[in-house]
Amino acid sequence: MRYLFMVILTVSCAKESKKLDAPAEFGKYVTAFEVAAAENKRSVSIYPLKISLADLNESGWMGIRGVCKIENSTRTLVVNINFWNSASDAEKEMHIFHELGHCVLGRGHDEWSPIMNSALGLGPDQYSAQRDLYLAELFKP
Ligand SMILES: [Zn+2]
Repeated sequence: MRYLFMVILTVSCAKESKKLDAPAEFGKYVTAFEVAAAENKRSVSIYPLKISLADLNESGWMGIRGVCKIENSTRTLVVNINFWNSASDAEKEMHIFHELGHCVLGRGHDEWSPIMNSALGLGPDQYSAQRDLYLAELFKP
Protein backbone atom coordinates (compact mmCIF):
# COMPACT_ATOMS: atom_id res chain seq x y z
CA MET A 1 0.00 0.00 0.00
CA ARG A 2 2.79 2.43 0.87
CA TYR A 3 4.53 1.60 -2.41
CA LEU A 4 1.41 2.44 -4.44
CA PHE A 5 1.15 5.84 -2.74
CA MET A 6 4.73 6.73 -3.72
CA VAL A 7 4.05 5.91 -7.36
CA ILE A 8 1.01 8.19 -7.46
CA LEU A 9 2.95 11.00 -5.82
CA THR A 10 5.74 10.73 -8.40
CA VAL A 11 3.28 10.88 -11.30
CA SER A 12 1.55 13.98 -9.98
CA CYS A 13 4.89 15.77 -9.47
CA ALA A 14 5.91 15.02 -13.05
CA LYS A 15 2.66 16.52 -14.30
CA GLU A 16 3.09 19.65 -12.22
CA SER A 17 6.54 20.41 -13.67
CA LYS A 18 5.19 20.45 -17.24
CA LYS A 19 2.43 22.99 -17.02
CA LEU A 20 0.99 25.18 -19.76
CA ASP A 21 -1.57 27.69 -18.58
CA ALA A 22 -2.98 29.12 -21.82
CA PRO A 23 -6.06 29.20 -24.04
CA ALA A 24 -6.25 25.90 -25.99
CA GLU A 25 -5.35 27.52 -29.34
CA PHE A 26 -1.78 28.16 -28.12
CA GLY A 27 -1.03 24.51 -27.35
CA LYS A 28 -0.04 23.54 -30.89
CA TYR A 29 2.51 26.36 -31.22
CA VAL A 30 4.15 25.50 -27.89
CA THR A 31 4.27 21.83 -28.91
CA ALA A 32 5.76 22.80 -32.29
CA PHE A 33 8.44 24.79 -30.43
CA GLU A 34 9.30 21.73 -28.33
CA VAL A 35 9.46 19.52 -31.42
CA ALA A 36 11.63 22.04 -33.29
CA ALA A 37 13.99 22.34 -30.31
CA ALA A 38 14.38 18.54 -30.20
CA GLU A 39 14.94 18.37 -33.97
CA ASN A 40 17.69 20.96 -33.61
CA LYS A 41 19.19 19.10 -30.63
CA ARG A 42 18.61 21.93 -28.19
CA SER A 43 17.42 21.05 -24.73
CA VAL A 44 14.93 23.64 -23.48
CA SER A 45 13.06 24.33 -20.27
CA ILE A 46 9.67 25.73 -21.29
CA TYR A 47 7.44 25.14 -18.25
CA PRO A 48 5.76 26.52 -16.28
CA LEU A 49 4.50 28.78 -19.07
CA LYS A 50 1.53 31.11 -18.94
CA ILE A 51 0.10 32.71 -22.11
CA SER A 52 -2.72 35.21 -22.28
CA LEU A 53 -4.27 37.57 -24.82
CA ALA A 54 -4.64 41.27 -24.03
CA ASP A 55 -5.31 44.50 -25.86
CA LEU A 56 -1.78 45.88 -25.73
CA ASN A 57 -2.79 48.83 -27.94
CA GLU A 58 -4.90 50.16 -25.07
CA SER A 59 -2.13 49.79 -22.53
CA GLY A 60 0.16 52.07 -24.51
CA TRP A 61 2.01 49.22 -26.27
CA MET A 62 0.75 50.23 -29.73
CA GLY A 63 2.34 48.12 -32.41
CA ILE A 64 3.77 45.61 -29.97
CA ARG A 65 2.76 42.05 -30.78
CA GLY A 66 3.63 40.60 -27.42
CA VAL A 67 5.89 40.57 -24.40
CA CYS A 68 7.48 37.67 -22.60
CA LYS A 69 9.02 37.83 -19.17
CA ILE A 70 10.02 35.48 -16.39
CA GLU A 71 8.30 36.02 -13.04
CA ASN A 72 8.94 33.71 -10.09
CA SER A 73 10.36 31.07 -12.49
CA THR A 74 7.14 31.13 -14.57
CA ARG A 75 7.46 32.36 -18.14
CA THR A 76 4.63 34.76 -18.83
CA LEU A 77 3.77 35.65 -22.40
CA VAL A 78 1.15 38.28 -23.19
CA VAL A 79 0.06 38.38 -26.84
CA ASN A 80 -1.58 41.42 -28.41
CA ILE A 81 -5.09 40.31 -29.34
CA ASN A 82 -5.22 42.86 -32.21
CA PHE A 83 -2.27 41.16 -33.90
CA TRP A 84 -3.37 37.62 -33.01
CA ASN A 85 -6.88 37.89 -34.41
CA SER A 86 -5.66 38.98 -37.83
CA ALA A 87 -2.52 36.81 -38.08
CA SER A 88 -2.12 33.76 -40.31
CA ASP A 89 -1.09 30.41 -38.86
CA ALA A 90 2.54 30.93 -39.97
CA GLU A 91 2.59 34.44 -38.47
CA LYS A 92 1.27 33.10 -35.18
CA GLU A 93 3.97 30.43 -35.05
CA MET A 94 6.70 32.97 -35.94
CA HIS A 95 5.47 35.26 -33.21
CA ILE A 96 5.23 32.59 -30.48
CA PHE A 97 8.69 31.26 -31.45
CA HIS A 98 10.09 34.83 -31.30
CA GLU A 99 8.69 35.38 -27.80
CA LEU A 100 9.84 31.96 -26.58
CA GLY A 101 13.21 32.85 -28.09
CA HIS A 102 13.30 35.64 -25.50
CA CYS A 103 12.03 33.89 -22.39
CA VAL A 104 12.99 30.25 -23.02
CA LEU A 105 16.19 30.54 -25.08
CA GLY A 106 17.30 33.79 -23.42
CA ARG A 107 17.93 35.53 -26.74
CA GLY A 108 17.63 39.26 -27.27
CA HIS A 109 16.82 41.00 -30.54
CA ASP A 110 19.25 40.26 -33.35
CA GLU A 111 18.68 42.13 -36.61
CA TRP A 112 20.51 39.36 -38.52
CA SER A 113 18.24 36.64 -37.21
CA PRO A 114 15.13 35.83 -39.28
CA ILE A 115 13.06 35.08 -36.17
CA MET A 116 14.75 37.18 -33.46
CA ASN A 117 14.91 40.48 -35.37
CA SER A 118 12.86 43.22 -33.73
CA ALA A 119 10.60 43.92 -36.71
CA LEU A 120 9.64 40.30 -37.48
CA GLY A 121 9.19 41.44 -41.05
CA LEU A 122 9.14 38.03 -42.71
CA GLY A 123 6.17 37.27 -44.87
CA PRO A 124 4.36 34.05 -44.01
CA ASP A 125 5.22 32.51 -47.40
CA GLN A 126 8.92 33.21 -46.95
CA TYR A 127 8.78 31.78 -43.43
CA SER A 128 7.07 28.60 -44.58
CA ALA A 129 9.54 28.10 -47.43
CA GLN A 130 12.63 28.65 -45.23
CA ARG A 131 11.28 27.32 -41.92
CA ASP A 132 13.92 24.60 -41.36
CA LEU A 133 16.76 27.04 -41.99
CA TYR A 134 15.26 29.70 -39.74
CA LEU A 135 14.63 27.25 -36.93
CA ALA A 136 18.22 25.99 -37.12
CA GLU A 137 19.30 29.61 -36.61
CA LEU A 138 16.83 30.13 -33.75
CA PHE A 139 18.00 27.07 -31.82
CA LYS A 140 21.72 27.40 -32.57
CA PRO A 141 23.79 26.91 -29.40
ZN1 LIG B 1 11.11 40.63 -29.31
